[in-house]
Parts: sequence; structure tokens; C-alpha cells
Amino acid sequence: MRHLFALLFSVMLSFTAFAQQTTTFIHAGHLLDTKSGKWMDEMTIKVSGTEITDVSKGYAAIPQDVKYFDLKDQWVLPGLTDMHVHMETEYNPQAYISKFVDDPADVAYNSVAFAETTLMKGFTTVRDLGGSGINISLRDAINKGKLVGPRIFTAGKSIATTGGHADPTNGGNAAFMGNPGPREGVADGADQAREAVRHRYKNGADCIKITATGGVLSVAKNGSNPQFTVEEIKAITSTAADYGFHVAAHAHGDEGMRRAVEGGVRTIEHGTYMSEETMDLMKKMNCYLVPTITAGKEVAMKAEEDGFYPDIVVPKAKAVGPQIQGTFGRAYKRGVPIVFGTDAGVFKHGKNAMEFGYMVEAGMPAMEAIQSATITPAKILQMEDQIGQVQKGFFADIIAVSDNPEKNVATLNDVKFVMKDGKVYKD
Ligand SMILES: [Zn+2]
Repeated sequence: MRHLFALLFSVMLSFTAFAQQTTTFIHAGHLLDTKSGKWMDEMTIKVSGTEITDVSKGYAAIPQDVKYFDLKDQWVLPGLTDMHVHMETEYNPQAYISKFVDDPADVAYNSVAFAETTLMKGFTTVRDLGGSGINISLRDAINKGKLVGPRIFTAGKSIATTGGHADPTNGGNAAFMGNPGPREGVADGADQAREAVRHRYKNGADCIKITATGGVLSVAKNGSNPQFTVEEIKAITSTAADYGFHVAAHAHGDEGMRRAVEGGVRTIEHGTYMSEETMDLMKKMNCYLVPTITAGKEVAMKAEEDGFYPDIVVPKAKAVGPQIQGTFGRAYKRGVPIVFGTDAGVFKHGKNAMEFGYMVEAGMPAMEAIQSATITPAKILQMEDQIGQVQKGFFADIIAVSDNPEKNVATLNDVKFVMKDGKVYKD
């Protein structure tokens, strides 16, 4: 009897949920099939609740009592994914002081605006590659509908070795440095490396980020030296696999990058000084390059402004920044797998789509650049049946622009319509 009541109750619940579902119809003048890279003209998209329930040829008649959006003069595509952002921060000359004066609540409130800006620019999914861990709470609040922002896959805190690029105490007054360990994302040796991954699992991260080499913006001298041993990296990737995590590795210098690829990471971030041997290794290992050309351009530009960065950062920004686009072009031509990512947060949030222009400028066709921000990230995030395509059964993440982005990729900077999970945020 109890079972029968439980069954009745759940049937009633699902019936109520069904009754509350909004149905939305969209007439799309041009709709992109990201799989084939082809445009389909005069299409109708039906959305029920959070899901796309039908995509059909022609402009279907609009039933009564549904929401309707006329995008007949628009170019419609799935929501974009940026595989490298930092939702908690946005660099400015005060950024180095903020880490000592801002409370976690300050960081959290800042991140609310960054998340909203990102979504309004058409990025319905992002991978957050490191912050204090507030990015995990941000993800949850957005998923629960408390805040407006993209769907977030987060690494929580980055993992570094002592003094490495993501050691959170770098550059601090010795009195504040303490001795951070695996819990804080600092690990030395294989055992601590495994422990650091398990802490990320405990904290609720979705993936793992390591800083395989020095970096530009840390208060440290070397921007490209190797900072993990192959043994440490293998300890991280094998432990990560136990928890269903993939591993992203920040890398500028070639030696640290090669170790990371050999160690089994899924993506290389930046890839600045990548040799041809490492490019070939990436192809062999099916490891993706996340270009972040926008970040490279922006740090090189800001390094010219007096006092924007600490003195120790300026020469690194000037040396590393301008290299990134050239490396991307060479890697693309050599056949290295590419997935879209910008490092937004190193520069102002919301400028993510500038990356498309830089990718095209370096020799990648616009359609491939769009695919690298739709179907490719879906694969890496193991969401290939849910995001990256406007198809029946997928999450209703849909955007529109008023020009053909294949011919005018800059139009992606000016997204006119944003729907995420079936809800329209911009029209
Ligand atoms: Zn980054």
C-alpha cells in the first residue's frame, strides 16, 4: 500500500512539473548544425522546460499559449563554451593587494557580476580553471537558479608545487605565507599530489587544474620553467581518473608541457613555447590545446602601462604574451587538436568572443573556431549529448547573432539573443 501511495505521489509530482513547463517556439532564419558545420535555413525549434524537444525544417505554425521568438533575420547557434575562465577574479592593478584585504564574501559578490556578464555574451557554459573555491559555490547557486550565469565546470583551486604558479601565498609577506599543503592546492611529491586531487573531490570540483610550468602573473621570476616531475603528474592524472576528473595543465615552457602531455593531461593551457615534438606528442595523446590568445594580447598590452603589474611580472608579460597567437597558428597547421578558451579574468570578463577573431587571424577557418567552442568542449566535458548542438534532447542553450559568423566572425562579440536551459536572458 505504501508503495502505491509513493507511486501515486510521484506521478502527481511529475504531472505538476509537466504542467508548469513552458513551451517556447523559435523561428530561426539560419540555424547552425555544429556537427556538419552547415547552416540550415528557415527552421523551427521547439523548447519544453529546459530541453530542446524538436527541430524541424520550415516555419511551423505557432500554437496558442506558447512563448514565441522571431529570429528569422538571425543566425542561430548553440550557446558557446569557454574552456578557460576564472569566475572569481578580474585583474587590475589592485589585484595583488586584494588577496590580502578582500574577504571571501567580497570575492563571492564580485563573481556574481562576472558570471552574469559572461552569460549575456552568449557563453552558456564555462570551465573555471582555478580560484579560491568560491567558484564551486557559484556553480551551485547558478544551478539552483539563485544567480544568473553560465553552467560552470570548475577545478576549484589549482594545484601547484611549492612556490609554483598557483601557490596562493606567492609574493606575500613572509608572515602571511604559512606553509600551504594539498588542502590549499600545493603539493610536492606523488603522495601529496594524490592527496591534493582528493581534496578537490572532497570540495566538489568537476575537474583538475595543475600549473605545470611558471606563469606570467604570479609574483615569481620564472614564467616558463617546469614545476612538476612526470611522476607527480602521473600521480595526479591517475588519481583524477579514479574520480572521473580530466586534468588541465597550464604550461608556457616546452619541458614542463611535454611532461604534462606525457603524464596524461587532457588539455594544455596557453602552450606558448611548444616545440614541434610536443605538438606531435599532443596529436598522439589526443591532448587539446586551449589557446588563450586574448589573454596573451591583453597582458602584453597592459605591461606597457606603468604600474599595472608588479615589476617582476612586466618582463614575463612582454615576452610570453605576444608569442601565444603564433604558437596557436603553428599548432593548428600541424594538426594539434584545439578547444576554445580565453583565460577571461586575466582580462575583463565578457570579451571572450574576441578569441574567435584572433584564431581566424592565425589561420583557423571561422567554422572550425565555432566548432572548437561548441561540439569539442562538449566532448571533453563528457556532455556531448547535452550541449554544443541545437538538437532534440539537448539542453536548450541557444544564442543568435545578426550576421553570418562564418563570414564575419566579429559578430560573435555582439550576441543578440541568449537562452540557457530554456530560459531567455537576452532578447
Ligand atoms: Zn588561467
